[in-house]
Amino acid sequence: MNKLLILVVEDDASVKNLITTTLKAHDYRYLAAGNGETAILDTSSHNPDIVLLDLGLPDMDGVEVIRKIRTWSNVPIIVISARSEDTDKIEALDAGADDYLTKPFSVEELLARLRVTQRRLLMMNSEASTRNPVFVNGRLRIDYAAGCAFLGEEELHLTPIEYKLLCLLSRNVGKVLTHTFITQNIWGSSWENDVASLRVFMATLRKKIEKEKDAPQYIQTHIGVGYRMIKVE
Ligand code: CA
Repeated sequence: MNKLLILVVEDDASVKNLITTTLKAHDYRYLAAGNGETAILDTSSHNPDIVLLDLGLPDMDGVEVIRKIRTWSNVPIIVISARSEDTDKIEALDAGADDYLTKPFSVEELLARLRVTQRRLLMMNSEASTRNPVFVNGRLRIDYAAGCAFLGEEELHLTPIEYKLLCLLSRNVGKVLTHTFITQNIWGSSWENDVASLRVFMATLRKKIEKEKDAPQYIQTHIGVGYRMIKVE
């Protein structure tokens, strides 16, 4: 049983129909808004569990909608954008979106994104209630208080930057983090060189936590966008 309430913000009728039909068939509740202003109002009055937000809206920029919603709400936001709007997508993630779908997308992709977001929601709720200083994801365990990480029983030997990276990803598990967001958090700046260094550190970190190089379990690469830690089931 799902029964989560999804706010669908989309002005294109055919895309909206595809989404709402899919939601209905999979036992989600939904509300639909055709512009940014209605989206903001609906978010505050109906308190949806997840917002699916098209970036190209008739009355305002979708990124503006995210900034407004983020002033009072942490609701997970999945943006929907056309392939040509890569920079918009990155801007949306930096403004506080959690994930993105690129048009055209399949029903399976939509459902997969919703599942990832639901797992993130569960995690956010349980963390808020327990304030656990230990993060557990599959065999990966991070003891934030002690400042160390383990894979199964084995302690990981991480450099300070690798550990910082791992913590940043874990504290945002399920969320796509852009290169800019990560480099600003790790080095306090974001130059081309930082993004190049980030790739290097990410590669060494992965070598230590991923068992299979070709099938990464914990850290997903979003080419041209950034990285995400996956919540392992
Ligand atoms: Ca549109």
